[in-house]
Amino acid sequence: MSSTSESLHQAARQVLVGGVNSPVRAFNSVGGSPKYYVKGQGAWLEDCDGEKYVDYVGAWGPAIVGHAHPDVTAALTEQLQNGLSFGGPSETETVLAEMVVSRLKSAEKVRMVNSGTEAAMSALRLARAHTSRERIVKFEGCYHGHADSLLVKAGSGALTLGIPTSPGVPKGLAELTTTLRYNDIEGLESAFTDLGNDIAAVIVEPVAGNMSCVPPRAGFLERLRELCRDSGSVLIFDEVMTGFRVHSGCAEALYGVTPDLTILGKVIGGGMPVGAIAGPASLMDQFAPNGSVYQAGTLSGNPLAMVCGIETLRLTSADGFYERLSEVTTHLCSELEKLAKRHNVDFATNHVCGMFGMFFTASDSVNDFDSVMASDADRFRKFFHLMLEGGVNLAPSAFESGFISSAHDEHAIDSTLDAANNAFAKLGAS
Ligand code: PLP
Repeated sequence: MSSTSESLHQAARQVLVGGVNSPVRAFNSVGGSPKYYVKGQGAWLEDCDGEKYVDYVGAWGPAIVGHAHPDVTAALTEQLQNGLSFGGPSETETVLAEMVVSRLKSAEKVRMVNSGTEAAMSALRLARAHTSRERIVKFEGCYHGHADSLLVKAGSGALTLGIPTSPGVPKGLAELTTTLRYNDIEGLESAFTDLGNDIAAVIVEPVAGNMSCVPPRAGFLERLRELCRDSGSVLIFDEVMTGFRVHSGCAEALYGVTPDLTILGKVIGGGMPVGAIAGPASLMDQFAPNGSVYQAGTLSGNPLAMVCGIETLRLTSADGFYERLSEVTTHLCSELEKLAKRHNVDFATNHVCGMFGMFFTASDSVNDFDSVMASDADRFRKFFHLMLEGGVNLAPSAFESGFISSAHDEHAIDSTLDAANNAFAKLGAS
C-alpha cells in the first residue's frame, strides 16, 4: 500500500524536476521515496502520515536550536506584521552583521546574500579582483555550492586542468580550477610550488562536511594558511556548514587559523535563505558600492531572514551551548560505535562539536576522500532505511554530515540508539 508521502511524491514528479528542488532530497542515492514532512518541533519531524522521526538533517545544518524554537517563531511573527521586504535597508541587517563580526574574529565587514552558493561565487569574484589572478584551488570532497568555477574535479595527471563535473560548465572556466586532495599537505606544497603565483584563491571547508564529516589533519589548515600568505593568494574558509556550528567563533576559532575571507550560510539564517561573505574592511570594501567588484541581490538582507538569524545566533550564545552540543554528539557517536561492535558491524564515526559522520568501514581513520569512498555505501543504504523505519531521519546519502541541535535531549538520543541497536542487529545478521 502506498503511503501519503509516496502519493505526494508522485504528484510532485509531474511538475518538479525529480519531484524536488534540490537533488539529494530525491533519495536517489539510498533508493525509495522521500518522506513528506508537515511539521518540525525541537529535535523531531512529523511526516504527512503522522509518523515522527528524530531528525539529524536539521534542514541541512541551519536548525541548530531545533525546529520551531518558540523564541525564533515569536521574533519572526513580530517581524511578519511589519512587512516582508522593504527594498531599502533595515536595522536588522546591521544587527546580524554586528553579531557575526563580534564572534568571527577575522571579519570586520559583512555582505549578506541569499545562499551559500551565492556567497562562494561572490567571494571568488572578490579574490580574483583583489589579486588580478584567475586560478582557484579547491579540494576533492568539499562542496561550495554550484557556481561554475566550483563544479570541477581533478583532471587526471595534469595538475592544472580541472574537468567540469556537470554539463554546462564551460571548459575554459573549469580549467582555471585546480582540485587537490583534502588533508594532503605534500600535495598542497607541490601545487603551490607549481602554481603559487597564479592562485587567486584557495577555498576550503575547514571541516569537510560534504564527504560525510572529515576533520582537518593536524597542520593541514596551518600549512595552507602559510602557503597562501607567502604566495599572495586569498584563503577563503567556507564556513557555510561549520560557521557557528562547531564553535561560537566558527572553525577559525576552533583551529586557531585565520582566513582572509569567510563565507557563511545555514546557521546564520536559522532556516531562512541567508548566506554571507565576511572579512577585513580592506578586502570587503572592494565590493560595490564602496568598490568596483559588482555584487547585488533583490532580497539580500531580507528583514525576516535577518530576524531569524539574529534570534538563532542569540540562542547559540547561551553559556555552555557549544559544550553541550559537543557532549551530546560525542555520546551519540561513541554509543553508536559500541552498538555496531556488539553486532559485529564494521563502523566508525567522525565528529566535531555539532556535526558527525558515519562510515561502514573497518578503518578507524577516515580522513580523506579516498577513505570515505572506500566505506561501504550499500551498508549505509540499508542502515538508512532501517533507521527511517525505526523513526530516525538521517541524511539520505552516505556522503552527508549529520547535525545535532540543542533540542536533542536524552529522549531523542535514546530513541535513536534503540533504533540503531535494531538496525545494527539486522545488518550484523545479514
Ligand atoms: N558550502 C558548503 C560547505 C555547503 O555545505 C553548501 C551547501 O550544502 C554550500 C556551500 C552551498 O550552500 P547553498 O546550498 O545555500 O547554496
